[in-house]
Amino acid sequence: RAKQDGRGVHRFFEREMDHQAQQRREMETDLRRALAHGEFELHYQPVVDIASESISGFEALLRWRHPDKGMISPAEFIPVAEDIGLIGPLGEWVLREGCKEAANWPSEVRIAINLSPLQFRSRNLVQVVVSALANSGLPPKRLELEITESVFLAETEANIAILHQLRELGVSISLDDFGTGYSSLSYLRSFPFDKIKIDRSFVKDLAKRSDCVAIVRAISGLGRSLNITTTAEGVETTDQLDWLRAEGCNEVQGFLFSAARPAAEIEQLLLRFGAWESRAA
Ligand code: C2E
Ligand code: MG
Ligand code: MG
Ligand code: MG
Repeated sequence: RAKQDGRGVHRFFEREMDHQAQQRREMETDLRRALAHGEFELHYQPVVDIASESISGFEALLRWRHPDKGMISPAEFIPVAEDIGLIGPLGEWVLREGCKEAANWPSEVRIAINLSPLQFRSRNLVQVVVSALANSGLPPKRLELEITESVFLAETEANIAILHQLRELGVSISLDDFGTGYSSLSYLRSFPFDKIKIDRSFVKDLAKRSDCVAIVRAISGLGRSLNITTTAEGVETTDQLDWLRAEGCNEVQGFLFSAARPAAEIEQLLLRFGAWESRAA
């Protein structure tokens, strides 16, 4: 009896693994077609400057509108796109589309675009950025590129050289998800970042946990001393906003203001948060 049960459990896991492997293969096949079929879109989340109380820019966040499965989160498909060598073309599409869209915005509004560490492997990243800027007419100073600490894990010297070339174009470089993963303060010495994005996990419990306050305070202080802008991610409550303002954080981003929205809603978002006061109204 026990033996039979064991076999049953074994078969169950086998079926489950087959199922997962098949889903994965399906996603790979679908992903390879998605770019040509125009299934990707960019949504834009406002970044709000605490001092001027207005939108300083938008972060472009990639969305996959699957024909049968609906919207699929980038957290699910980007790792797969990286595995199957699709992140190069996909990342290039994001850069071109984002710059083209941002070129329509008021001239003080910037765009932030996420880069995968694997985009640093294809040696033409700088060329793609140059070309996306030239084709869109977007001034380089309005483009921010977001990278994570994983860019420093392999090919460190080569990647730092690429970062310097990007910065020489006049674009700025942000360190995303700061404080998570392989976080090390030494990365701040490896490259002169323009912005640090404080990870959502520290913002989440600001009102409840003194250790989160201490960490946010330390990162803001570091930013001030090193002349690096600090942006807090995942701000959902006015309590969190009040803490961040008190700790001297420069910018905030989160559902309190807006989730990422399609390009067609940018104008409306600018009207609503152009002056922050109108948030309450
Ligand atoms: P990220 O760059 O750290 O982006 C922030 C994520 O937090 C976004 O998730 C955003 O929708 C979510 N978020 C923003 N405000 C809040 C909030 O108040 N509460 C909560 N709970 N979440 C909030 P999303 O759009 O699912 O993207 C996930 C990750 O996928 C991004 O993290 C980024 O690492 C990656 N990603 C997105 N678009 C691209 C892209 O075009 N290229 C690359 N390479 N990666 C991308
Ligand atoms: Mg980001
Ligand atoms: Mg982030
Ligand atoms: Mg994050």
